[in-house]
Amino acid sequence: MNLSAWWNRLFSPAVRIALGLVSLMVTLVLLGEMFTGYPTDRGELLSRYHSQVARTLGQQVAGALSEESRDDKQQLQRVLAQALHNEPRLLSARVVDANARVLGQVGDHQRGWHLAAGVSSTLDNIRIPLLVNGQRWGELQIVMQPMLPNTLAGWLREPLVHWFAFISLAGLLVYALYLRRVLRHLDPNAAVPERVRTAFDTLTEGVLVLDPLGRVMLANQAFTRIHGEQASALTGKAATELPWLLASLPDDQRAPPPWRRAVQDKAAVLGVPLHVLREGVPPLRLVLNCSPITDGGRVRGCLASLSDVTELQERTERLHVALEDLSISQKEIERQNEELTLLATRDALTGIFNRRSLMQQAEQRFAEARAAGTPISCIMCDIDHFKSVNDKYGHAGGDQVIQGAAKALSRGLRLHDFVGRYGGEEFCVMLPGSTLAQAREVAERLREDIAANLGAALRDHAGVRVTMSFGAAELEPGMADPGALIDLADQALYHSKKNGRNRVTAWRTEDTETAGAVA
Ligand code: GH3
Ligand code: MG
Ligand code: MG
Repeated sequence: MNLSAWWNRLFSPAVRIALGLVSLMVTLVLLGEMFTGYPTDRGELLSRYHSQVARTLGQQVAGALSEESRDDKQQLQRVLAQALHNEPRLLSARVVDANARVLGQVGDHQRGWHLAAGVSSTLDNIRIPLLVNGQRWGELQIVMQPMLPNTLAGWLREPLVHWFAFISLAGLLVYALYLRRVLRHLDPNAAVPERVRTAFDTLTEGVLVLDPLGRVMLANQAFTRIHGEQASALTGKAATELPWLLASLPDDQRAPPPWRRAVQDKAAVLGVPLHVLREGVPPLRLVLNCSPITDGGRVRGCLASLSDVTELQERTERLHVALEDLSISQKEIERQNEELTLLATRDALTGIFNRRSLMQQAEQRFAEARAAGTPISCIMCDIDHFKSVNDKYGHAGGDQVIQGAAKALSRGLRLHDFVGRYGGEEFCVMLPGSTLAQAREVAERLREDIAANLGAALRDHAGVRVTMSFGAAELEPGMADPGALIDLADQALYHSKKNGRNRVTAWRTEDTETAGAVA
């Protein structure tokens, strides 16, 4: 225990108040004596007593000095010695005759006798004239104990000092014990039974029990850990006087604060988030719940609990960051997958379906048409004299023509039609729901568009004339798969090539036998 704690313990409030009361009591006793004269003044009593002793001794000495025994010195000495023995306050006595001759003496008279000749008596140096036959014969000098001691030891022997020491110490003890009891009753901390306090202290949540005015009646240990001050220092303080508590509330929850609202509305205020920011202390995230304490409909106070959710919040935040990262990488994966799908299904030069995905799509549509009994047609087309384009403009020039052809074909189709690159400069168009006649119309339109515009649209070699030949066929009952349909269209294309190119051939199986019948 350090010195200040020891000092505080010794001079507890009870002891300090007791000291004040004792001083007050002693002052009152002294004042009382001054104003009322009771108890009777000690000086006066002593003076009376000294006079009495002097008178009695004077008479005895006078007796001893009577005519018959005047020369009997022993008689006088006996009287004086008797007096010294009997009177506790008598220090010395001496009898002198008119010529100042000493006739008898007891005690150390030299030491205590201070009166010069002719000076009248004081309280402790008393002179009594001895008369014989009316004549002054000599005098009796007596030295009494002085009224006030003149040494420390003398003071310590003084009954008055003993008396004040006794009432001071006894008063201090009695007052201190009594006040300790009284203060314990008045201590607001004592309003909550110890077992309730202990129960609250076992909780990991911070708990405040507030009175209806929002003053702290109890703060448990977990709360003092958050607050950083002893529970006893909190008792009686208004919760609004805890600056960090008020500052940590969300702006819209400060006036009135949740604990006051709980009392006013007689309803719990739950889940108020607190963000505690204090200098030199790591930030805290708390959740505040306030419930009114009611007793037969009357609100007696409020129970406020504070849960520390700092770690939970941090974990949640970390989880959010991780989820965000995950979502970003998921999007990246999706984008890469899309890119991969595109790469796997599209032709790198033209961006339209490659042969593999064209065939997949064709198979699906073919099956649907077969199941539904609806028509589906196919157009095969090939750039005319492409070798010479390549020869003339180089491979890069040929690539531009292939790209232009793909674009023109895509542009000329309806939504559910689709086109794919079937081979080098050969394309396949599928037309679900279209009859042979409709396919022929589409092919004719495409042919015209390409013949008129494809060459002109070439980036580096504008003005070249490029044409394409077309062959169209329609799903027929005997066809097992889209390959058969494509084959028939390819034969029609071949027929177009053979018959001068830049033309459309649309036919059915029976037409192949009389090749060239439908042109
Ligand atoms: P036809 O009118 O009979 O179709 O005559 P053609 O010259 O077009 O003959 P063919 O269809 O046999 O020619 C195909 C040529 O296309 C052969 C090849 O060098 C060329 N070729 C194939 N793929 C590409 C390609 O991706 N780019 C370029 N520039 N040329 C290609
Ligand atoms: Mg060709
Ligand atoms: Mg070809």
